[in-house]
Amino acid sequence: MDSNYDVIIIGAGPAGLTAAVYAGRAGLKTAMLEPEAPGGKMVKTDIICNYPGVDNVTGVDLSMKMFEHSTSYGTEYLYGRVVEIVDEGDWKIVKTEDGNSYQSHVVIVATGTNERTLGFAGDDALLGHGLSYCAVCDGAFFKEKHVVVIGGGNSALEESVYLTQFAKKVTLVIRRDVFRGDDSSQRQVLNNDKIEVLRKHVPVDYIEKDGRIAGMKFKNVDTEEVCEIDAEGVFPYIGAIPATDFLKNHEGVLDSEGYMIVGDDLQSVVPGIYGAGDVIQKHLRQIVTATSDGAVTAQNAFSYIQDLKSKA
Ligand code: NAP
Repeated sequence: MDSNYDVIIIGAGPAGLTAAVYAGRAGLKTAMLEPEAPGGKMVKTDIICNYPGVDNVTGVDLSMKMFEHSTSYGTEYLYGRVVEIVDEGDWKIVKTEDGNSYQSHVVIVATGTNERTLGFAGDDALLGHGLSYCAVCDGAFFKEKHVVVIGGGNSALEESVYLTQFAKKVTLVIRRDVFRGDDSSQRQVLNNDKIEVLRKHVPVDYIEKDGRIAGMKFKNVDTEEVCEIDAEGVFPYIGAIPATDFLKNHEGVLDSEGYMIVGDDLQSVVPGIYGAGDVIQKHLRQIVTATSDGAVTAQNAFSYIQDLKSKA
């Protein structure tokens, strides 16, 4: 297999898939590397209502449409979890966990973020045993059960509402007395009879019985009183960690939280390495801002490669 490309896109969420459309249409030899299903966080989302032109679409449908579009101009979709990028100037060597390596003039990093975990001893053992980070994947297992959702951002608000179609009751626990998520999602939560909101409480630990979630302990932030909530399911939605471990050996590319630092052209301090989507420092992490980044990076990759070739 020829493993030389003009552009390698790492990650097949909305940013990566859009970069693939634009790079393919620009005639660049392009590969996209992804270790999971295409769509990124979109594919784990129930309904998407804020992507212009499609006011109500399932995350799976939008992911599949973007995926089909992304490969229709010749971009190759390759399996692979990237562990390292070696900068050799005009060429970047992209290495994957399974020992493959690819090279390209430009790398577009669109790896997004992973779920932040609570940091309790049961995080690993209880995963899949009542603990889940994906309501769309696992919600149906909680038919007529009581579930707890933790967090006040858009993810927690939206997934709480989603879970009400299965669960008998959803208790949404936030650590302040206000939500972080947008007004529209807040309204949907507050107007849903199946959702009870518990404010100013922080999680203390899981309650476990026979290797499964049996509930959750919370502490009141004002009184420090600890309470126990019996529940069969716990869904933490407490934010995200950028998926950028493979960039740690590149000085100046990441900020202290691991987000990519990029200029207006979305290029990092390493010429030829660009960032797009949730993985970069930005204020608004949305599908529409991710797709915008994807277009910008692919267009800038085209100019970068033209420049490189004109000097050769
Ligand atoms: P987020 O916006 O960062 O919200 C995380 C929530 O978890 C916050 O309410 C935070 O509380 C809480 N939290 C953090 N650590 C905690 C802890 N240890 N214990 C208890 N609570 C904790 O994360 P997100 O909801 O996953 O969203 C990530 C990004 O994607 C955001 O930019 C969001 O706007 C975007 N997004 C958008 C949509 C949409 O537009 N439809 C949907 C999903 C996600 P505090 O508020 O007190 O800090």
